[in-house]
Order: sequence, then C-alpha cells, then structure tokens
Amino acid sequence: MAERTVLICGAGIAGPALAFWLKRYGLRPVVVERAPDLRSAGQSVDVRGAGTEVVRRMGLEDAIRARLTHEAGFALVDSAGREWARISTESMGGKGFTAELEILRGELARILHEATREETEYHFDNRVASLTDTGDRVRVGFLHGPEREFDFVLIADGLRSRTRELVFGDEARIRSLGVYTAYFTIPREPSDNAWARWYSAPGGRSLVLRTDNLGTTRAVLSFRGPPQGYERFTAKEKKDLLRRVFADAGWEVPRVLARLDDTPDFYFDAVGQVHMPRWSKGRVALVGDAAYCPSPLSGMGTTVALVGAYVLAGELSRHADHTEAFAAYERVMRPLVTLAQDVPSLGPKVAMPKTRIGIALQHIVGGVASRLGLFQFFGRFATPPADAIQLPDYGARASA
Ligand SMILES: Cc1cc2nc3c(=O)[nH]c(=O)nc-3n(C[C@H](O)[C@H](O)[C@H](O)COP(=O)(O)OP(=O)(O)OC[C@H]3O[C@@H](n4cnc5c(N)ncnc54)[C@H](O)[C@@H]3O)c2cc1C
Repeated sequence: MAERTVLICGAGIAGPALAFWLKRYGLRPVVVERAPDLRSAGQSVDVRGAGTEVVRRMGLEDAIRARLTHEAGFALVDSAGREWARISTESMGGKGFTAELEILRGELARILHEATREETEYHFDNRVASLTDTGDRVRVGFLHGPEREFDFVLIADGLRSRTRELVFGDEARIRSLGVYTAYFTIPREPSDNAWARWYSAPGGRSLVLRTDNLGTTRAVLSFRGPPQGYERFTAKEKKDLLRRVFADAGWEVPRVLARLDDTPDFYFDAVGQVHMPRWSKGRVALVGDAAYCPSPLSGMGTTVALVGAYVLAGELSRHADHTEAFAAYERVMRPLVTLAQDVPSLGPKVAMPKTRIGIALQHIVGGVASRLGLFQFFGRFATPPADAIQLPDYGARASA
C-alpha cells in the first residue's frame, strides 16, 4: 500500500500524540498549527490511568516524570490564608485533584513535539482555509501556501475548533458549565508552597495558586456566570473584565491582578464541553478537545486526548477501510468519553459558592471530610474515571 498522508490540525496534546503513532504505523503525518510557536500557556494537566499507559507505550513516561510539578496536594484556604482542609497527592494514590503525573501543559506539549518533530512536517502560523473531501482524497487550502491533498484530515485544534466548523457545520453542541477561567504565570513569592491553595471569594469567584517546576507560580482565576461570550473578547478586554470581577475579592488576589499586564502567558476561556453526535465524516475525523472536550473540571481532558490519539491511529493502522477505522475508534472511545464528560452541574456550585455561608460550609465540611478521609465530598475531583477503558494492543510499542 502507498504511504498514506495525514493532515493533523493542531499541535497541542492530541495532535503531536497522533503524529507519533501514525508515524509508527507507517503513515505520513503533517501538522498545521495556528500559533506561531508551541503554546506554553496553561497550568498543570493530569495524565491518569489509561493515559499513563499510553505515554508508557510511547516510551515517554520517564521524560514526563522528569518534568512533574511535584505538587504536594491541595488545600482550602480563607481570606486570612488559614487552611481549612488539605488533601495530599499521596493520600489519594495520585488519583485525586493532583494526579500522579501532574505536568505543566506547555511542558507536555514540548515533550510530544520533541518526540515527533524529526519525523513530522510541522507548519506553525498557518491553518486550514478550505477543505474538500473528493471521496478518495481530501483537498486542503491553507491560509498561507499552496493547496495540498491528503488521504485523511484529523482535527485536533481544541475546544473552539474552526476546522471542525468547516467540516461539521454547527453539529457541535458546546455545553457551558457556567464558569470562566483564566490561567497565567506570575512570579513566585515566599508564601507560595508545594500545595495548590484554593481560595473561594463571595460571588462564586476563586483563585488557585500552584507552584510549578520552573520556579514560577501559576494563577487560576475563575468566576461563575451564564454564557456572555467573554471568550471572544480581546486579551485586553479579558484582563479588564478580570480586574472588575475580582476587584474586592481579597486574599492574594491583588498581587495576582497586578501581574496581569506583564504575565508571559495568558489563557482565558469559558469552561465548556464539546458534544458531537459523530466524530467523523468521510475522510475527516476529530480527536481530543475538538471532538469531546470534557472540560478542565473533569480532570480528564489530557487523558482522553492521549488515549483518543492512540486509538484513532491504531484503528487506522488496523483497517484498510477508513470508514471501518473511524467506526471502531468511536466504538472503543465513546464509553470512556461519556464517563469523562459526566461532570455534575452542581460541581462548580460546590467548588465556588456564591455566599459567605456557602464558603463557610465548604471549609467546615471540606475540613471534616479531609480529616476523616471522606473523599466523596470532593466529588469528581477525587474520582476521575481514567481506567474505564481496556486499551487495545495495536502491536506497536515505541519503547520496544
Ligand atoms: C494555551 C492552552 C492552555 C491550556 N491550559 C489548560 C490548563 O491549564 N488546564 C487544563 O485542564 N486544560 C488546559 N488546556 C486544554 C488542554 O490542553 C486540553 O483539554 C487537553 O490537553 C486536550 O488537548 P487538545 O490537543 O485536544 O487541545 P488543545 O491543547 O487545546 O490544543 C489545540 C491546539 O490547536 C491549535 N489550534 C487552534 N485552532 C487552530 C486552527 N484553526 N488550525 C490549527 N491549529 C489550531 C491551538 O493553538 C492548540 O495548539 C489548555 C489549552 C490551550 C490551547
């Protein structure tokens, strides 16, 4: 069979992971990424359960372990910095809020890029402008450069994928979880320590401070609110919005807001999930957040992206007919995705109470629950279903 060529849209997590496996199976991946460089923004992400097994099969587990954030666990604090509850990573066997493989998103993206760049054509600062599935090939026009043909196009360009829109129109349903979140890096202060400190302010607002392995601190500002389209604001408008919303929030918020203008990275989005009735159409398929983003609240986004890339590449290697490959991919992945997306709408309300009484209750019940080891109180934070899949063996191990 002639070498099959595959265009992958997006060099986040799912895209490079796909490139890795496709190359192992003798296909030729080409990656197009909209950003001018690899995007380093974001705080730590979790590689769990089946995701850990996938990176092990890629031979990348050691590289990841060498760059973990080494977070001790998470603690609930009040406006005076008093700790009301703390759960260590160890006490939950690395399966709770802080995963055993907790790594900065940018670091993971870099590891995956380094593992693939020699054998993969990467094109940054470009994107798909038009796409025609002719039945036996896909003709692709780019923003920059000439039109090209591929056997398949695999879309891994995230929650707000434009390429998905080009192919699937308005089939995607984005389920809003009623939360806006901003991630950015700030200088480390002596008060920052190895614990992720979670502070809730009245009005459904929160600040989480997490130290990383690069000598800096990652700030996460979140607030509850109905969908308003803030994610479409310019960076300046988003930062002004955060300054307004958090103006009187207390604790270490002023220090964090003061860094908004000089942070080296800034990422802001409405927290949501992607629900698609199907993950493929003709010679085009979706993977990762573009297909089934479960949201950061699930603790599963990176795991399902890594597992999805592994399964999609594996099924393409196993089936000569892409229709069968895409159907098998969906059959294997749907149950895991359904569980990953099962994030109760009550979650944000418990995590970010609106009233002072709600916050006091969160502290007291959280404190008692953590002392008694009743981790169910922390709901999905404590129990992501990362092992709920039997990983098929497609016969290729990078490490073998
Ligand atoms: C900058 C950034 C920061 C993040 N921070 C966090 C975090 O702190 N915590 C968390 O839980 N999750 C975070 N996420 C989401 C997390 O990475 C994903 O949920 C998960 O890892 C699945 O990854 P993915 O590869 O499917 O999508 P993503 O990681 O979102 O990667 C998608 C990639 O596609 C690129 N792209 C977008 N549009 C186009 C286009 N039209 N053409 C080509 N490329 C395009 C994007 O620039 C990005 O590199 C972040 C995502 C991004 C992009």
